[in-house]
Amino acid sequence: MARKTYRGRDIDVTFDADICIHAAECLRRLPSAFDINKRPWVQPDNVPTDQIQTTIDHCPSGALKYVRHDDE
Ligand code: SF4
Repeated sequence: MARKTYRGRDIDVTFDADICIHAAECLRRLPSAFDINKRPWVQPDNVPTDQIQTTIDHCPSGALKYVRHDDE
C-alpha cells in the first residue's frame, strides 16, 4: 500500500500502513490528533504543530512522517 498523506494547515502527515508495527505510540501520546475511530484517523489541525512533530518523532517504525510547511 502506498504512503497516504493527511494535509494540515501547518503540517502534512504521511502514513505507511505496511510498516506500522501497531505500537500505538501515536494513539496513546496524542489521541486528539490520532484516533482510529475517526475518519480520517489523522487530524493534524486538532493540536499544535509541535505536538504532532514530537509524537511522530516517537513513532518506532517510521510509518508516520511529517513535512512542516515552515520547513519547505
Ligand atoms: S506510532 Fe507508528 S508504529 Fe505505532 S501505531 Fe502509530 S504509526 Fe504505527
